[in-house]
Amino acid sequence: MGKALIIGCGGVASVTIHKCCQNSDVFEEICIASRTKSKCDALKEKLSGGKTKITTAQVDADDVNQLINLINEVKPDVVINLALPYQDLTIMDACLATKVHYLDTANYEPLDTAKFEYKWQWAYRERFEKAGITAVLGCGFDPGVTGVFSAYAMKHQFDEINYIDILDCNAGDHGYPFATNFNPEINIREVSANGSYWENGKWVETKPMEIKRVYNFPEVGEKDMYLLHHEELESLGLNIKGIKRIRFFMTFGQSYLTHLKCLENVGMTSIEPIDFEGHKIVPLQFLKAVLPDPASLGPRTVGKTNIGCIFQGKKDGKDKVYYLYNVCDHQECYKEVGSQAVSYTTGVPAMIGAMLIMNGQWRKPGVYNVEEFDPDPFMDALNKWGLPWKESFNPDLVE
Ligand code: NDP
Repeated sequence: MGKALIIGCGGVASVTIHKCCQNSDVFEEICIASRTKSKCDALKEKLSGGKTKITTAQVDADDVNQLINLINEVKPDVVINLALPYQDLTIMDACLATKVHYLDTANYEPLDTAKFEYKWQWAYRERFEKAGITAVLGCGFDPGVTGVFSAYAMKHQFDEINYIDILDCNAGDHGYPFATNFNPEINIREVSANGSYWENGKWVETKPMEIKRVYNFPEVGEKDMYLLHHEELESLGLNIKGIKRIRFFMTFGQSYLTHLKCLENVGMTSIEPIDFEGHKIVPLQFLKAVLPDPASLGPRTVGKTNIGCIFQGKKDGKDKVYYLYNVCDHQECYKEVGSQAVSYTTGVPAMIGAMLIMNGQWRKPGVYNVEEFDPDPFMDALNKWGLPWKESFNPDLVE
């Protein structure tokens, strides 16, 4: 069917690239472009021989001109941005200049403020509409599948959804005292920020990890989970009509939290640059350099993830509860694509979103969050491409 340009070649990108190669009828050709070209070449070497033609390129995605030149050279149908959130706007600018569709998995953040907001990317709406191209924002698992689940629940199960609790459980064990399952800098910025939830049209802010609940996750068991701010709360708060409250909870083990507290207490999670032997360094970026590379966790992580949404609302005048979730096994993912489940659950939806842009099912000029599209083809594709979903009409609720 066509050609995709994938920017970034880290943990998530590696899964998306494997999946594009499995789906060679759609992804006849891909170009993998990243800061470190040797990583792209190594992946190409591993995957060559299949039907999808693979090329590689070096690019600094902070530089719009380099991106424009690359897109003009590759001539892709879609750009899949799997670099870091800092590069979202430069890549969107390059897509606008070349009139190519765009997809990412995380919203833009300025390097110097850990603030998760869509305002910068939503500001591109009119320009994308005028250029006649589609931008799909936040098409990983959360955000991503959680938005598709919400659109599906709205379309098929409810007349009105009043409450959504998004529960993200990673019960995987990698055997290290402390490591993060995706980019450490992004992960630590996310979990050390204040928590918040959306209630009656307003944000309610909490201290980091202030609200704790215990939940008995299907196929995983009882885990401690903590309320975090998460980017899809912002778009779902606007796009799900009748919503009164949306919360996001993520599980953390005690060892992770103790290490994090200690690192915070000594200043290692700070994003303020400091002077070190004549250089400016950002403590959190230095910490990233000494922590295990998330891509190396694959072979050693055992256990499962369970990510899903509990919806409460009304159908035909009656109260209704509905839980949609996916369970993913770290070792199964590793066997299939050489990555652990956190990268897998993000990389597969990115491939599916790009496929739906390419085949026209998710194509409309403008900038959209995933819940603004028809969820049905995406839900079918999740079952087909490795993230089957399950439903329950009688789940435990979160207090
Ligand atoms: P990694 O750090 O493993 O990979 C990032 C990749 O981007 C690396 O290959 C890196 O290059 C490349 N990169 C960084 N800066 C640039 C640049 N300026 N120019 C070109 N390439 C660059 O991160 P992950 O794979 O873990 O995460 C990728 C994205 O997925 C992130 O935005 C993250 O927030 C998002 N994510 C979304 C989730 C969801 O469910 N929605 C869940 C998990 C992650 P190099 O190899 O040289 O460092």
